[in-house]
Amino acid sequence: MKCLFCESDGPFTTVEHVIPESLGNDVLVLTNDVCDSCQNYFGKEIEKFVLEKTPIAFWRVYLRIRTKTAQNPHVDMRQPKQQKGVLPNVHVLHDNIGFAAHDDGSVSVDMHDDDLVRQILSGEKSQFVQVFTPNVLFQFGRFLCKIGIELLCTESPNRAREPDLNKARRFARFGEPFRHLWPIFHFNNGKMPKVAEETEIECYSYSMVEVSGHYLVFRFGMGTDNWLVCVNDASPNLDIQALFPSESVNCIWYHESEYAGK
Ligand SMILES: [Zn+2]
Repeated sequence: MKCLFCESDGPFTTVEHVIPESLGNDVLVLTNDVCDSCQNYFGKEIEKFVLEKTPIAFWRVYLRIRTKTAQNPHVDMRQPKQQKGVLPNVHVLHDNIGFAAHDDGSVSVDMHDDDLVRQILSGEKSQFVQVFTPNVLFQFGRFLCKIGIELLCTESPNRAREPDLNKARRFARFGEPFRHLWPIFHFNNGKMPKVAEETEIECYSYSMVEVSGHYLVFRFGMGTDNWLVCVNDASPNLDIQALFPSESVNCIWYHESEYAGK
């Protein structure tokens, strides 16, 4: 079979982890569906960013998911100092902080900004703000589309290759169409999980739901966060919100006019 993303004939010598191995996944894998070059691209260009700069980074630390070398997790969620690239990736309200887990079970916040430290100490500020810039939304959307398509492939390699997924496939692998953003739906549920050394906790959850016999919606959850992408529809479709009527589902998306040309 040809590669799920680039349609090349391989080579297929390495194993593709549908959900990153560094989140603890060693069972959900594909062996002959994603070529070495696509795997390498996803690891370097998408997963690395998502694991460091999105809410997944926070949960990795909070849930104490150890690194491959069994170290305590720590993340640096600072934005770049200056705008670079096509999509906005710097926002004035974003707090440039990091998180680190420690052996005693605590999580500390790293603050790199004297102003921020002063505001916290004076009580002027009591919450940290993390902004989903268009660039974060772009990369996170690609990450979720990639996992959704691969999850389908674990069940049916033919279904995962159907043309209704072409758009999500190209978006995940090539970031096309240029400057496009894939809407992500989000809801919170449950309580903040208690994390103790001696208990095993679920680090992530996922599901695939079909809506109205047409929309294929992939859900990925970590901690209290749940994110949804519709892998065969790229519009901010309100039917998706109706899928979870008991939750307050919001849509994270920017219309192109809000960021193009800035
Ligand atoms: Zn490929």
